Amino acid sequence: MIDIHCHILPGIDDGAADEQVSLAMARQAVAEGITQIVATPHHRNRHWDNPKPSIINMVKTLNQLFEQNQIGLTVLPGQEPRIFGEMADPDSEAELVTVNDNKKYILVEFPTHHVPRYAQQLFFDLQVKGITPVIVHPERNQEIFEHPEILYNFITDGALSQVTASSLIGKEGKKVKKRTLQFIENNLSQFVASDAHNVTARPFHMQEAFIELKKQFGRELPHTFRENAELLINGELVNREEPVEIKEKKFFGIF
Ligand code: FE
Repeated sequence: MIDIHCHILPGIDDGAADEQVSLAMARQAVAEGITQIVATPHHRNRHWDNPKPSIINMVKTLNQLFEQNQIGLTVLPGQEPRIFGEMADPDSEAELVTVNDNKKYILVEFPTHHVPRYAQQLFFDLQVKGITPVIVHPERNQEIFEHPEILYNFITDGALSQVTASSLIGKEGKKVKKRTLQFIENNLSQFVASDAHNVTARPFHMQEAFIELKKQFGRELPHTFRENAELLINGELVNREEPVEIKEKKFFGIF
Protein backbone atom coordinates (compact mmCIF):
# COMPACT_ATOMS: atom_id res chain seq x y z
CA MET A 1 0.00 0.00 0.00
CA ILE A 2 1.15 3.54 -0.78
CA ASP A 3 0.43 6.54 1.44
CA ILE A 4 0.36 9.76 -0.61
CA HIS A 5 0.14 12.29 2.24
CA CYS A 6 2.29 12.07 5.36
CA HIS A 7 4.38 14.38 7.55
CA ILE A 8 7.23 11.93 8.14
CA LEU A 9 10.21 14.23 7.46
CA PRO A 10 11.75 15.12 10.84
CA GLY A 11 11.79 18.57 12.41
CA ILE A 12 10.46 20.71 9.59
CA ASP A 13 6.75 21.17 10.31
CA ASP A 14 4.18 19.93 12.83
CA GLY A 15 4.88 16.33 11.78
CA ALA A 16 7.67 14.06 13.06
CA ALA A 17 9.57 16.05 15.70
CA ASP A 18 12.88 14.24 15.12
CA GLU A 19 14.40 11.16 13.48
CA GLN A 20 13.24 8.93 16.32
CA VAL A 21 9.63 9.87 15.60
CA SER A 22 10.20 9.36 11.86
CA LEU A 23 11.49 5.85 12.62
CA ALA A 24 8.52 5.11 14.88
CA MET A 25 6.15 6.35 12.17
CA ALA A 26 7.92 4.22 9.58
CA ARG A 27 7.53 1.11 11.75
CA GLN A 28 3.85 1.85 12.30
CA ALA A 29 3.37 2.37 8.55
CA VAL A 30 5.03 -0.94 7.69
CA ALA A 31 2.90 -2.71 10.32
CA GLU A 32 -0.17 -1.40 8.48
CA GLY A 33 1.04 -2.74 5.15
CA ILE A 34 2.47 0.51 3.75
CA THR A 35 5.55 0.09 1.55
CA GLN A 36 5.95 3.59 0.12
CA ILE A 37 5.18 7.00 1.59
CA VAL A 38 5.10 10.34 -0.15
CA ALA A 39 6.64 12.84 2.28
CA THR A 40 4.44 15.92 2.15
CA PRO A 41 5.67 18.66 4.50
CA HIS A 42 3.69 21.87 4.75
CA HIS A 43 4.76 24.72 2.50
CA ARG A 44 3.59 28.36 2.38
CA ASN A 45 1.35 27.49 5.25
CA ARG A 46 1.39 30.42 7.70
CA HIS A 47 3.91 28.67 9.93
CA TRP A 48 6.18 26.67 7.63
CA ASP A 49 8.11 27.04 4.40
CA ASN A 50 9.69 23.94 2.92
CA PRO A 51 10.89 24.65 -0.62
CA LYS A 52 11.94 21.90 -3.00
CA PRO A 53 15.75 21.66 -2.48
CA SER A 54 15.49 20.98 1.26
CA ILE A 55 12.74 18.38 0.76
CA ILE A 56 14.72 16.46 -1.88
CA ASN A 57 17.75 16.37 0.45
CA MET A 58 15.78 15.30 3.50
CA VAL A 59 14.04 12.50 1.61
CA LYS A 60 17.46 11.10 0.64
CA THR A 61 18.71 11.28 4.22
CA LEU A 62 15.57 9.66 5.62
CA ASN A 63 15.74 6.79 3.11
CA GLN A 64 19.34 6.17 4.23
CA LEU A 65 18.22 6.11 7.86
CA PHE A 66 15.46 3.61 7.04
CA GLU A 67 17.92 1.42 5.13
CA GLN A 68 20.37 1.45 8.04
CA ASN A 69 17.55 0.38 10.34
CA GLN A 70 16.18 -2.19 7.87
CA ILE A 71 12.71 -0.70 7.96
CA GLY A 72 11.57 -1.76 4.50
CA LEU A 73 9.86 1.52 3.66
CA THR A 74 10.66 3.89 0.81
CA VAL A 75 10.06 7.62 1.09
CA LEU A 76 9.22 9.59 -2.05
CA PRO A 77 9.45 13.37 -2.42
CA GLY A 78 6.29 15.45 -2.20
CA GLN A 79 4.86 18.53 -0.53
CA GLU A 80 1.64 19.95 0.86
CA PRO A 81 1.62 23.55 -0.38
CA ARG A 82 -1.06 25.87 0.94
CA ILE A 83 -2.71 27.37 -2.16
CA PHE A 84 -1.22 30.67 -3.36
CA GLY A 85 -1.96 32.83 -6.36
CA GLU A 86 1.37 32.32 -8.16
CA MET A 87 1.40 28.50 -7.90
CA ALA A 88 1.18 28.03 -11.66
CA ASP A 89 3.81 30.68 -12.48
CA PRO A 90 7.13 29.43 -13.91
CA ASP A 91 8.92 31.19 -11.03
CA SER A 92 7.26 28.85 -8.52
CA GLU A 93 8.60 25.65 -10.10
CA ALA A 94 11.87 25.93 -8.14
CA GLU A 95 10.06 25.79 -4.78
CA LEU A 96 7.20 23.37 -5.46
CA VAL A 97 7.43 19.57 -5.37
CA THR A 98 4.96 17.57 -7.43
CA VAL A 99 4.00 14.09 -6.18
CA ASN A 100 7.13 11.90 -6.49
CA ASP A 101 8.62 14.83 -8.44
CA ASN A 102 6.78 13.55 -11.52
CA LYS A 103 5.46 16.94 -12.75
CA LYS A 104 1.99 15.41 -13.18
CA TYR A 105 0.20 15.84 -9.86
CA ILE A 106 0.47 18.28 -6.98
CA LEU A 107 -1.25 18.25 -3.60
CA VAL A 108 -3.03 21.49 -2.72
CA GLU A 109 -4.23 22.55 0.73
CA PHE A 110 -6.94 25.18 1.16
CA PRO A 111 -7.14 27.46 4.18
CA THR A 112 -9.26 25.84 6.92
CA HIS A 113 -12.30 28.08 6.62
CA HIS A 114 -12.65 29.06 2.99
CA VAL A 115 -11.76 28.43 -0.63
CA PRO A 116 -10.03 31.34 -2.39
CA ARG A 117 -11.97 32.66 -5.39
CA TYR A 118 -8.89 32.43 -7.60
CA ALA A 119 -8.64 28.65 -7.10
CA GLN A 120 -10.74 27.77 -10.16
CA GLN A 121 -8.55 29.82 -12.54
CA LEU A 122 -5.37 28.59 -10.82
CA PHE A 123 -6.41 24.94 -11.20
CA PHE A 124 -7.10 25.59 -14.86
CA ASP A 125 -3.64 27.17 -15.28
CA LEU A 126 -1.97 24.21 -13.54
CA GLN A 127 -3.77 21.75 -15.80
CA VAL A 128 -2.71 23.71 -18.89
CA LYS A 129 0.86 23.00 -17.68
CA GLY A 130 -0.02 19.29 -17.44
CA ILE A 131 -0.22 19.28 -13.63
CA THR A 132 -3.41 17.98 -12.01
CA PRO A 133 -4.21 19.44 -8.57
CA VAL A 134 -5.14 16.98 -5.82
CA ILE A 135 -7.19 18.76 -3.14
CA VAL A 136 -6.20 17.40 0.27
CA HIS A 137 -8.81 16.63 2.94
CA PRO A 138 -11.75 18.57 1.42
CA GLU A 139 -13.87 17.21 4.27
CA ARG A 140 -11.89 19.39 6.68
CA ASN A 141 -12.51 22.66 4.83
CA GLN A 142 -15.44 24.55 6.33
CA GLU A 143 -16.68 26.11 3.08
CA ILE A 144 -16.57 22.82 1.15
CA PHE A 145 -18.11 20.99 4.10
CA GLU A 146 -21.07 23.38 4.05
CA HIS A 147 -21.23 23.72 0.26
CA PRO A 148 -20.05 20.44 -1.28
CA GLU A 149 -21.01 21.73 -4.75
CA ILE A 150 -17.71 23.67 -4.59
CA LEU A 151 -15.84 20.36 -4.57
CA TYR A 152 -18.14 18.95 -7.26
CA ASN A 153 -17.25 21.89 -9.52
CA PHE A 154 -13.49 21.43 -9.01
CA ILE A 155 -13.71 17.69 -9.73
CA THR A 156 -15.89 18.32 -12.79
CA ASP A 157 -13.17 20.70 -13.99
CA GLY A 158 -10.53 17.96 -13.71
CA ALA A 159 -9.12 18.21 -10.18
CA LEU A 160 -8.87 15.19 -7.87
CA SER A 161 -9.23 14.95 -4.10
CA GLN A 162 -7.88 12.95 -1.17
CA VAL A 163 -9.82 12.27 2.00
CA THR A 164 -8.06 11.47 5.27
CA ALA A 165 -8.14 8.03 6.90
CA SER A 166 -9.08 9.46 10.32
CA SER A 167 -12.10 11.27 8.81
CA LEU A 168 -13.28 8.07 7.14
CA ILE A 169 -13.25 6.05 10.36
CA GLY A 170 -15.02 8.72 12.42
CA LYS A 171 -12.12 10.13 14.43
CA GLU A 172 -13.10 13.67 13.37
CA GLY A 173 -16.74 13.16 14.34
CA LYS A 174 -19.91 11.74 12.78
CA LYS A 175 -20.64 14.68 10.52
CA VAL A 176 -17.16 14.64 9.01
CA LYS A 177 -17.38 10.89 8.49
CA LYS A 178 -20.72 11.29 6.74
CA ARG A 179 -19.35 13.96 4.40
CA THR A 180 -16.26 11.85 3.71
CA LEU A 181 -18.41 8.87 2.74
CA GLN A 182 -20.56 11.11 0.52
CA PHE A 183 -17.47 12.44 -1.26
CA ILE A 184 -16.37 8.88 -2.04
CA GLU A 185 -19.85 7.66 -2.96
CA ASN A 186 -20.37 10.60 -5.35
CA ASN A 187 -16.96 10.14 -7.03
CA LEU A 188 -15.64 13.40 -5.61
CA SER A 189 -12.60 11.74 -3.95
CA GLN A 190 -10.19 9.27 -5.52
CA PHE A 191 -7.69 8.71 -2.70
CA VAL A 192 -7.48 7.92 0.99
CA ALA A 193 -4.25 8.93 2.74
CA SER A 194 -3.11 9.08 6.35
CA ASP A 195 -1.92 12.70 6.74
CA ALA A 196 -0.09 11.11 9.70
CA HIS A 197 1.93 13.54 11.85
CA ASN A 198 3.19 11.14 14.56
CA VAL A 199 2.35 7.75 16.10
CA THR A 200 0.12 9.01 18.91
CA ALA A 201 -2.32 11.89 18.32
CA ARG A 202 -2.29 11.70 14.52
CA PRO A 203 -1.23 8.18 13.47
CA PHE A 204 -1.86 6.36 10.17
CA HIS A 205 -5.25 4.63 10.59
CA MET A 206 -4.81 3.30 7.04
CA GLN A 207 -5.66 -0.31 7.79
CA GLU A 208 -8.87 0.68 9.57
CA ALA A 209 -9.72 3.12 6.79
CA PHE A 210 -9.46 0.42 4.13
CA ILE A 211 -11.57 -1.95 6.21
CA GLU A 212 -14.18 0.82 6.43
CA LEU A 213 -14.00 1.39 2.66
CA LYS A 214 -14.71 -2.28 2.04
CA LYS A 215 -17.52 -2.32 4.59
CA GLN A 216 -19.19 0.71 3.01
CA PHE A 217 -18.53 0.17 -0.68
CA GLY A 218 -17.54 -3.46 -1.21
CA ARG A 219 -14.35 -5.12 -2.44
CA GLU A 220 -13.79 -3.19 -5.64
CA LEU A 221 -13.36 0.33 -4.29
CA PRO A 222 -10.48 -0.37 -1.85
CA HIS A 223 -8.67 -2.03 -4.73
CA THR A 224 -9.30 0.98 -6.99
CA PHE A 225 -8.11 3.44 -4.34
CA ARG A 226 -4.91 1.43 -3.73
CA GLU A 227 -4.30 1.36 -7.44
CA ASN A 228 -4.94 5.12 -7.70
CA ALA A 229 -2.14 5.87 -5.22
CA GLU A 230 0.22 3.80 -7.36
CA LEU A 231 -0.91 5.48 -10.59
CA LEU A 232 -0.46 8.86 -8.91
CA ILE A 233 3.16 8.32 -7.88
CA ASN A 234 3.90 6.93 -11.35
CA GLY A 235 2.38 10.01 -12.97
CA GLU A 236 -0.22 7.95 -14.84
CA LEU A 237 -3.95 8.60 -15.26
CA VAL A 238 -5.91 7.59 -12.16
CA ASN A 239 -9.26 5.81 -12.12
CA ARG A 240 -12.07 8.31 -11.87
CA GLU A 241 -15.81 8.02 -12.29
CA GLU A 242 -18.21 10.77 -13.36
CA PRO A 243 -18.74 13.09 -10.35
CA VAL A 244 -22.26 13.28 -8.95
CA GLU A 245 -23.56 16.34 -7.12
CA ILE A 246 -24.51 15.80 -3.47
CA LYS A 247 -28.23 16.34 -3.04
CA GLU A 248 -28.98 17.94 0.30
CA LYS A 249 -32.33 17.64 1.96
CA LYS A 250 -33.79 21.15 2.10
CA PHE A 251 -35.42 21.96 5.41
CA PHE A 252 -36.36 25.55 4.68
CA GLY A 253 -38.21 27.56 2.08
CA ILE A 254 -40.33 24.90 0.44
CA PHE A 255 -43.67 25.53 2.14
FE1 FE B 1 -1.09 17.33 5.78
